[in-house]
Amino acid sequence: MKIHEYQAKEVLSRYGVPVPKGQVADTVEGAVAAAKGIGGDVWVVKAQIHAGGRGKGGGVKVSKGLDTVKGSAEAILGMQLVTHQTGPEGQQVKKVLVEEGMDIRKELYLSILVDRNTQSGVVLASTEGGMEIEEVAAKTPEKILRENVDGAVGLRAFQAQRLAYGLEVDRIDPKLVRPTAALISNLYQAFQGEDCSLVEINPLVLTGDGRAVALDAKLTFDDNALFRHPALKDYRDLGEEEPLEIEASDADLSYIKLDGNIGCRVNGAGLAMGTMDIIKAQGGEPANFLDIGGGADQGRVETAFRIITSDPNVKCILINIFGGIVRCDVVAEGVVAAFKNVGISIPVVVRLEGTNSKEANEIIAGSGLGDRLLKAESLKEAAEKSVAAAASQS
Ligand code: ADP
Ligand code: MG
Repeated sequence: MKIHEYQAKEVLSRYGVPVPKGQVADTVEGAVAAAKGIGGDVWVVKAQIHAGGRGKGGGVKVSKGLDTVKGSAEAILGMQLVTHQTGPEGQQVKKVLVEEGMDIRKELYLSILVDRNTQSGVVLASTEGGMEIEEVAAKTPEKILRENVDGAVGLRAFQAQRLAYGLEVDRIDPKLVRPTAALISNLYQAFQGEDCSLVEINPLVLTGDGRAVALDAKLTFDDNALFRHPALKDYRDLGEEEPLEIEASDADLSYIKLDGNIGCRVNGAGLAMGTMDIIKAQGGEPANFLDIGGGADQGRVETAFRIITSDPNVKCILINIFGGIVRCDVVAEGVVAAFKNVGISIPVVVRLEGTNSKEANEIIAGSGLGDRLLKAESLKEAAEKSVAAAASQS
């Protein structure tokens, strides 16, 4: 689950991570009142959407004086903000965070994520903050520092300090080494304490008045651990999520929308990824990732079909099922029933392998659906037929 910057800063300050004074607002008047409440004479008005790169897209405005705050809020609230993370259609801004304008001496990069290779948390840091870190990683990977964390003991004090020195904080101001190391340690506490899959501070700034502050904050929580943090549920903003993905998660389906035209319905995440790969290998493009899980409950199967077919790009559906616990004949009956109940008007290719696949193929052959329901023996054949069927529809 992703949350907004202002929410992430709320969470982080509970862990003692310094953040700028700020307040969220959803109206222009509210933004001006927030600035007054914060005090000072320079503020920054920041669009709150679940995507980064807002600064470049015009969603972060440094504002001198209350009139400028008003103008910035008018410009940002309601805008369709396009960044490299939103896709070309952008995301509408419904809230802004008004913050005290900080006197920035240096922008640094800091993040913590799970490294699946070492099966532990890893802290990444770079002196090249504020920029697109992907570019730094690609062009100058030596500028990215890393500290692997032993999950049993957590981030050690010397590691936080080594990162602070690695970030050359002492060259800017030796007095800032301790607070920077403390910030890094507290950030790790937050990462672990809230079961995050990602914490990213870009930039972490060293200020003219001698502080280390998290100027931007992105937090992603591990959905599988959300049950341990009931309070976090209130942070969810459904307006920021893909409507089809919300419907899928309500039905306990793992669904990610993609840009292709072949809808996929698969049981098991690994098989779903393999199916997407083989579609691509045959020159096609998958329209989604969809793992319907182990069971073949008819309600979920129909929800899956409804979700796939409500994407107008989908020209063909590929069903790839390995019957281990689930029986292929039950799946086949479900597919035939779904044609009636959901009203599928595009070709469907099925490949059913495993328990009772012979009976399943007989059900498909006897369905009377002709060319609308095609069967395939191998995964390769299934992909070939889907690519051809999708091409014939476009
Ligand atoms: P994004 O990563 O989405 O572009 P950031 O929060 O990182 O958004 O803001 C972009 C840039 O705007 C920062 O790198 C920083 O230079 C500036 N900025 C953001 N917040 C403040 C602030 N409170 N005071 C001063 N400058 C800021
Ligand atoms: Mg940023």
